[in-house]
Amino acid sequence: MTQEKRFCPKCGSQVNFSIPAGDNRPRAVCPNCHHIDYDNPRLITGTIPIYQGKVLLCRRDIEPRRGYWTLPAGFMENQESTSTGALRETLEECGSQAICRQAFSMISIPQIDQVHLFYLADLPKADFHTTEESSEVELFELDDIPWKELAFNSITRTLKLYLEDVKKGSFGFHEETLMIDFLPPLKTF
Ligand SMILES: [Zn+2]
Repeated sequence: MTQEKRFCPKCGSQVNFSIPAGDNRPRAVCPNCHHIDYDNPRLITGTIPIYQGKVLLCRRDIEPRRGYWTLPAGFMENQESTSTGALRETLEECGSQAICRQAFSMISIPQIDQVHLFYLADLPKADFHTTEESSEVELFELDDIPWKELAFNSITRTLKLYLEDVKKGSFGFHEETLMIDFLPPLKTF
């Protein structure tokens, strides 16, 4: 539980941390309006965009990890499904209208309170371009993936799982927990 000052999103009072009745862990509880400000993991949703056997990657033009390659992904928004969020992020980061084929990898990262969910997605045509978030957008042959320049461990893990499934000739759903060996964590995606 973070110890920095937090304020109630409903009324602005400084919250206290206490275990509410019926709960089992400390929460941010407002002493004024009694609102409980729950703090739960965030979902990052994205795609592995495939065009004619190649994978589309974006070079990040935003922090963190500016200059490193990533799969298009970002925080899921309210009022959207995981797959529509993944397709929205793909459009925002590479200008591509992708089609989700299947959910492919779901990676929990407990140290930073995030879950990363990637869909295998098809690009009907090679329509992509740089965007505000991506300084380069490029299709990579699987032998040419820039492993040393990938932005996040979940991207590396998802692409490795994808290559393994390509070799097998069948695509599964992969649920994993990833421990990261560096702190402070990359809190924003
Ligand atoms: Zn309040």
